[in-house]
Amino acid sequence: MKYLVTGAAGFIGSHLCTELLKQGNQVWGLDDLSSGKLENIEHLKGNPNFEFVISCISNEAILQELIKKVDVIYHLAAIVGVKRYVEDPVKVIDVNLCYTSRLLELAWKHDKKVVLASTSEVYGKSDKVPFKEEDNRIYGSSTIDRWCYAISKTADEHLCFGYAKKGMPVVILRFFNAYGPRTNSWAYGGVVTRFINQALKGEPLTVHGNGTQTRCFTYIDDIIKGTIEAGRVREAEGKIFNLGNRNEISILDLANKILEISGKNGSIVFQCYEEFYGSSYEDIPRRSPDITAAEKILGYCPTISLEDGLKKTIEWYSKKL
Ligand code: UDP
Repeated sequence: MKYLVTGAAGFIGSHLCTELLKQGNQVWGLDDLSSGKLENIEHLKGNPNFEFVISCISNEAILQELIKKVDVIYHLAAIVGVKRYVEDPVKVIDVNLCYTSRLLELAWKHDKKVVLASTSEVYGKSDKVPFKEEDNRIYGSSTIDRWCYAISKTADEHLCFGYAKKGMPVVILRFFNAYGPRTNSWAYGGVVTRFINQALKGEPLTVHGNGTQTRCFTYIDDIIKGTIEAGRVREAEGKIFNLGNRNEISILDLANKILEISGKNGSIVFQCYEEFYGSSYEDIPRRSPDITAAEKILGYCPTISLEDGLKKTIEWYSKKL
């Protein structure tokens, strides 16, 4: 099969390209390197089945040429990272919604299948945990910049269903706190990346708020398995899938676990949200997925425990420092 992966040099994108190539597919990767890194795909250099193009998805001429070549588009290019949402909502809406809307239109025009990377963020601060794909979404005020990301991805999902009505095959994946080697830059990355880097550098781990907020962290290999099946399984078309795992952990417990596994004698400090994000932020107190749909239709089954995943990730970051 022939695939286009947008955001190919990013965290999930680079792992996805690697696995698609391993399985004997032909892959075109597209990335503007705004947050993705060439070193993430260094190991794919010279692979005759891989072609990498540096360009933003806003360049329609390049995007269209690539879309024409492939069978399936994995659309992962996006502005990600909570700190980025609060810093530049205009960019978030431009890339995640406006350019994505154009990409979907081109995919429809050329009759291609799209797998859209959405996010657990779309559930917002709903307290009906675990979140099921058809559940309501609960967002805060638009004066709080954090919600711009959820809104952009929600609108993308509506666009996907709109094109599905016109006959385009689409699959929507809501990722739940993916982590692993090659996660984004530590300053903008998710909490696992930040805590691991802090622990390895001997800095205190900065727990926001009181640390009782929870997440279900999902190791990248599990995420990739589900993502690949989503592009393959016909029954998945026209549907949304949560990709995550059921093991909920508080951020304070995560910090302690990372200190323990890294074997560093580090400490924890509590930091108020404003200090890190500014005033335009509110947290999501609990986040946990119902993964029944992915289990049934994609055969998805996360197997990597948080301990094992953290060990692998810590090992990878240790070599980077
Ligand atoms: N967080 C934290 N310390 C940090 C970075 C994040 O305590 O240095 C918290 C953050 O406030 C949130 C959780 O960890 O409650 C997960 O944050 P992340 O940025 O990974 O993404 P989110 O799950 O909120 O989308």
